Amino acid sequence: MDAGWVAFTETLPDAIPLPVGAAEANAEQASAIALIDGQHASFAAFLLFGITGSGKTEVYLQTIAACLSRGQQALVLVPEINLTPQLEARFRARFPSARIVALHSGLSDKERVLNWLSASRGEAHIVLGTRLAVFTPMPRLGMIVVDEEHDASFKQQEGLRYSARDAAVYRAHQRQVPIVLGSATPALETWHNARQGRYRLITLQHRAVGGAMPPQIEIIPMHRAKVVEGLHQATLNIMRDHLAAGQQVLVFINRRGYAPVLSCGECGWLGECKRCSAKLVLHLKERRLRCHHCGYEEVIPNACPDCGNQDIRPLGQGTQRIEAALETLFPEAKILRIDRDNTRRKGSLQEMLRQVSAGEANLLIGTQMMAKGHDFPALNLVVVLNADAGLFSVDFRGEERMYAQLLQVAGRAGRAGTQGRVLIQTGYHDHPFYGQLLAQDYAAFADAQLDERRSMQLPPFAAYALLRAEAEDGALAKAFLQQLQAVLADAAGVQMFDPIAATMQRKAGMERWQLLVMSDTRHPLVNALKRIAPMLEARNNKVRCILDVDPIEM
Ligand SMILES: [Zn+2]
Ligand SMILES: [Zn+2]
Repeated sequence: MDAGWVAFTETLPDAIPLPVGAAEANAEQASAIALIDGQHASFAAFLLFGITGSGKTEVYLQTIAACLSRGQQALVLVPEINLTPQLEARFRARFPSARIVALHSGLSDKERVLNWLSASRGEAHIVLGTRLAVFTPMPRLGMIVVDEEHDASFKQQEGLRYSARDAAVYRAHQRQVPIVLGSATPALETWHNARQGRYRLITLQHRAVGGAMPPQIEIIPMHRAKVVEGLHQATLNIMRDHLAAGQQVLVFINRRGYAPVLSCGECGWLGECKRCSAKLVLHLKERRLRCHHCGYEEVIPNACPDCGNQDIRPLGQGTQRIEAALETLFPEAKILRIDRDNTRRKGSLQEMLRQVSAGEANLLIGTQMMAKGHDFPALNLVVVLNADAGLFSVDFRGEERMYAQLLQVAGRAGRAGTQGRVLIQTGYHDHPFYGQLLAQDYAAFADAQLDERRSMQLPPFAAYALLRAEAEDGALAKAFLQQLQAVLADAAGVQMFDPIAATMQRKAGMERWQLLVMSDTRHPLVNALKRIAPMLEARNNKVRCILDVDPIEM
């Protein structure tokens, strides 16, 4: 894909940018840098596995410095636009004379084109971007870094479905350059590749920040507990102590809105979306019920639409309800809620993060937006509400994702030399998952998960493809999948299940059905899928069908 751009290699950059202010690498970092740099002239994939604060970024910076000094370009992929400004600032400080360009969907069309041209002409030294940047032509590409490689956002979920991480590895191989995949909680596919020796595993076990320790994680069992608005009395006491000591506290709840559903205590009515098999989320301030899947909304009814009972109540907690509860429980605190609902405006998230850093807020409420990357020196208590969702997920990656997310949010606590504390409220404190989490030993967790996947013939030990058909009339979607099933029936080495309704059967007015196809290795699967390609490409006004190879959810 880069071949057409070789002509541009004539325009080499004028000066080789010199790095400034490189931190002294510790022994682990130094050997990581030497290993990666030693492979600069050929393809090698490295998994840089290190806990939060172990200094993965410093390893990227120093290997990139070596890459630039050879007159080459570096491509750095990050999972989220929101993380690019912080990282970009760090890169600019280190390489003040380098041309660093960003590539993500938050730029104007003009900015994006200019940055893309600068990269493809070989002028930009460093390209920093989200998953779409993986295809940027770079004539002098010298290395690729994928930070937080486990992040689900590297998988494109609409249209052409590809994994930017896998595309990056492929590209590094094609260009014969090294690639570094960095994570504290690597994807199990990546972990498996490292265990098999296909990727080289580099472990950073120590926190690079002087004297810092991993956070102390505690489980707060919710069974038969005295609870105030979803918060355990013990949790509230610890929060009070931390606030009184002048520290910041983060309450993490991965559910925005006021409450996840409105219900009638008389007849059991629940507010549901008319277009999806989903509950409508209560947004109290806007006096609206909203569907988080299709955007449908309606005003909050005054009485139950089914039985007329006027006493209809919100069930469960969302960020807005926790905010209201904390305003009453901690009237002195400076409370700041950060979720997708109040950070839509451009620059508003940056402004909120600034307020947190400046200490203008001390009690924070946040969703997964807050879990990723941002460093807050005064934050040393994280409270996790509603942690259990991933334990009983239909998605076989539920526990893997949950472990990654909890460890990531735990990593927000205590980065400035003090030990952070993390409280996890759970209704299932004796579930083996929490034992593994308390051990904070991701390698052991990942090995155990891989054993389970192997025994259950799940990825990465088998290859899967999901065919999803959507139609206004569910019978048409199902019939279409049955046609595909018939064509695939005698394909060699492939197994199939019967078409079933998707977990979320109705979305935005469409009925969704799916057909799962698997094989032991990828080749038979790909060969089988070639047979149905014409059927998928043929226009069908009634049924829309999506092929998802290596589906994230199934
Ligand atoms: Zn009712
Ligand atoms: Zn909906």
